[in-house]
Amino acid sequence: MPTVKSLRMWLTHELGYRVKGDRVELAGGYRLRIIGWDRRYDDFPNREARLVFREGEFTLYVAKRVPRPARYAPKGVLAVDINEGRVVVGNSSVEVRVETPVERALHYRRLAERLQGKYSSTRYMAWLRRRGVRRRVRHFHRKAKNIIEDWARKTAHIIVSLAKQSQLAVAREDLTGLVESLRRLPKGHRTALIALGYRRLAFWMDWQAEKNGVPILVVDPAGTSSTCPRCGAELVEVGYRRLRCPNCGLEADRDSIAVLNIEGRALSQMGGSLTTPTAPQMTDVNPNRWGEPP
Ligand SMILES: [Zn+2]
Repeated sequence: MPTVKSLRMWLTHELGYRVKGDRVELAGGYRLRIIGWDRRYDDFPNREARLVFREGEFTLYVAKRVPRPARYAPKGVLAVDINEGRVVVGNSSVEVRVETPVERALHYRRLAERLQGKYSSTRYMAWLRRRGVRRRVRHFHRKAKNIIEDWARKTAHIIVSLAKQSQLAVAREDLTGLVESLRRLPKGHRTALIALGYRRLAFWMDWQAEKNGVPILVVDPAGTSSTCPRCGAELVEVGYRRLRCPNCGLEADRDSIAVLNIEGRALSQMGGSLTTPTAPQMTDVNPNRWGEPP
């Protein structure tokens, strides 16, 4: 039996919704009470709002249009290499490693799966019919997703703040290919969570950079962990995740190699073009939570 979990709909300001005092009026005469309001954005114009129906409640998320800060001219690059177990942030002079929460999130996915397995038969999905079980399964899935999301947002914040402090540009790999190659692997919770982590971290880094006027560069990921960042020769493996260049003798950890290659690619991509700050433009901020059922 198919069930609808959530419904959403876009509303245009003035036509679909209107803000009146401490209420929001929707077309059709519905009124929602405002439950959260970020006053910092009061002077900026309203944009589209998203009306979401979830678990018996209506919520309206209103987006605002705010000017985007001008980007500074970067003094260098902070490269970000993302892989299954960790994120490596650095350049020729610094390196920071952050673990990913994939294992922690995986734990909740497994709990959900175990519950689903316990209550399903081959004939019909019995667990779908038990409200309590269904709710717990959904809770575990959401928990796993939230762990990834929180981590992505916090990690992106740390990375962008680091870059801003030293007036560096953030460089990350183009993850399209990475996510694609993960999709070709056997489907599993781990793969799905890794892909989710990649996408969310990239999303938050781009967003935070935009918000803080930090220049961001996306580089080609081909061969970043297999070619020498100093001379471009093909590296040979000399131990677990350890590589050496047969040409110039450089030897380093695979992650450090990737960071140096990303930095190098970003620097050549910049080639002086980012030394002039861009003019301020308008951008959309994250929607604020606003309404509740009347
Ligand atoms: Zn070399």
